[in-house]
Amino acid sequence: MQKKHFTLLLSLVLLLSMLTPFGGSSTQAANDLLVGVDELNLRSGPGLSYSVTASLQRGEVLTSLDREGDWIQVSNGQTKGWVASWLVVANTKKGAASTTSGTKVIVAQVDNLNIRSDAAISASVLGQLSAGSQAVALQEKFGWIQIEYNGKKGWVSQDYVTVKTSTEKPATSAAGLTFTIQIDTLNVREEPSLNSKKLSTVKRGQVFNVLKQEDLWIQIEYVSGKKGWIYSFYGALSNGKNRAAQPTAKDVQTIYNGTNLRTGPSTDYAVVARIDAGQTLTTTAEENGWYKVTYNGQPAFISSTVVKSANAASSGAAFSGLTIVVDAGHGGHDGGTVGARHTLEKKLNLEVATKLASKLRANGANVVLTRDSDTYVSLPTRVSISHQYAADAVISIHHDAHIDRSVRGFTTYYSNDFQKPLAQAINRGLQQQLQLSNRGTQYGDYYITRENNRHAVLVELGYLSNGTEEQILRSNQFQEQAAYGIYVGLLNYF
Ligand SMILES: [Zn+2]
Repeated sequence: MQKKHFTLLLSLVLLLSMLTPFGGSSTQAANDLLVGVDELNLRSGPGLSYSVTASLQRGEVLTSLDREGDWIQVSNGQTKGWVASWLVVANTKKGAASTTSGTKVIVAQVDNLNIRSDAAISASVLGQLSAGSQAVALQEKFGWIQIEYNGKKGWVSQDYVTVKTSTEKPATSAAGLTFTIQIDTLNVREEPSLNSKKLSTVKRGQVFNVLKQEDLWIQIEYVSGKKGWIYSFYGALSNGKNRAAQPTAKDVQTIYNGTNLRTGPSTDYAVVARIDAGQTLTTTAEENGWYKVTYNGQPAFISSTVVKSANAASSGAAFSGLTIVVDAGHGGHDGGTVGARHTLEKKLNLEVATKLASKLRANGANVVLTRDSDTYVSLPTRVSISHQYAADAVISIHHDAHIDRSVRGFTTYYSNDFQKPLAQAINRGLQQQLQLSNRGTQYGDYYITRENNRHAVLVELGYLSNGTEEQILRSNQFQEQAAYGIYVGLLNYF
C-alpha cells in the first residue's frame, strides 16, 4: 500500500471512530463510565503495549473522550489515559450516554488454549479451552486476560482470543455517507467478514451510499435491491461536510521510549536527546525518511519510522487494522536446528518473534503469535491460524544450518509468486538493519508459505552452524535489529 493510502486509511479510521461512538450516541457525556473491575490499568496509549500510568479502582467514575478499537480514552478528572473497553461499564446512575460495553467475553481462537494461574508463560496450567469456547473477561495484564471459567479464575494469552461484548452490538447507522472504491476490484460479501461468501465485486471509482457500518466493514446496495458488505480499508468515506478531509500531518508522535533525536538526518549523526513514547513534535521538513523538528528550542532530526502522525493519533498507528501472524518456527519437541555451540533454533526463533510482535503491536497491529512459549505447534495448525485470522501478512522466523560451516548470512523465502513482493520488502528491511551478508530473496518450498493462501514469507536470519554467526544471532542486539528490520520491511510493504 502506498503512503497516500495510509493517510486515507487513517482518516477513514478516524471517521469511523467518530461514527461508531461508544454507547451508541455521538455526543460525549461527562462521567459516562465506571471502572468495572477491582483494579484497572490506565495506559498511555490504546493497547496493552503502552505503559501503565495509573491504577483505577472499581467504581471510579470516568468520562470517555475517544475510542480506538477495543480501547477508550478516558479522563478521571485528574488525568487522561486509555482503558480496555471490556473492563469498564456504563454509569447508568448519572444518566450518561445510554448503553455500555456490557460484560466482555473472550472467545478462544485455537484449540488447547492454556488457562494459566498467572499472567505469564511460566505459570502453571489450570486447564484448557477449545476453539470457540467463551469465558467472561475480568481484567487484563501484560498481554494476558483474566477469565472466569467453571467458577474459577485463570489467565489466557490475549493473542489467542478475541474479545467481544456479550450483548449483540447493533450496527451503526450511517445515513448520508458515501463510500468511494479505491482499488481496481473489491469483493462484496454476504457478511462483514473476510471469510464470508463472496456475492459480487465492485470497481474503482464507484460510489455507494453507506447503509450500515460494522467495525471496518460497510454495507452497501451493490446493485438495485441487493445488499452486501465491503471492507472499508479499500476506499474513502465522505459526507457533505467533508469530514473525511485528510489530516494535515504536521505533528508527529513518538512510538517508543528512548527514541533518539539526532543532529542530522541519519544514524551517523550524534544523538542530542532521547525522548519517550507519546511525545508530540512539530515537523518542519522531511529529508531521506527523517523529520526535522524543534526540540528544546534546538533543531533536531528524528527517523520517520519511529513516529506516527499525531493528527491521526486518535485513529491509531501505522498498522491499525492489519493482522500480522508472527510464527516462531519449531517449538516443544521440535527444536529445529542446533548451533555449533548447541544453541537451539526454536529458542532464538521465539525471542525474535516476541520482539517483532511487540514492535508491531506498539504500532497498532493485531498480532497473532502461532506460539508464545516452548510448545509444539504443527505446520498445518500454523497455516490454518494464518487463514483463520485472514492475516494481512505472515512472518515465519527461522535460523539456518548448513553442513558446510563456512556458510553465513540471512535469506528471505517465498513459495507462491504473490508472496514475493512481501519477501522482497522484508529482505530490504533486514538489509538496512543487519551487518550479516544478504543471501537475498529466494524461492523456497516450505510448508508454511507453500500451503498458505495469505502473504506469507519465511526468514532464515543466519546460520547457527557457523560458530561466529551463532554468537551474533544469540545477542539481544542482533535480535532487536532483526525484529526492527522485519518491522521496517512490513512498514514499507504496506
Ligand atoms: Zn527452522
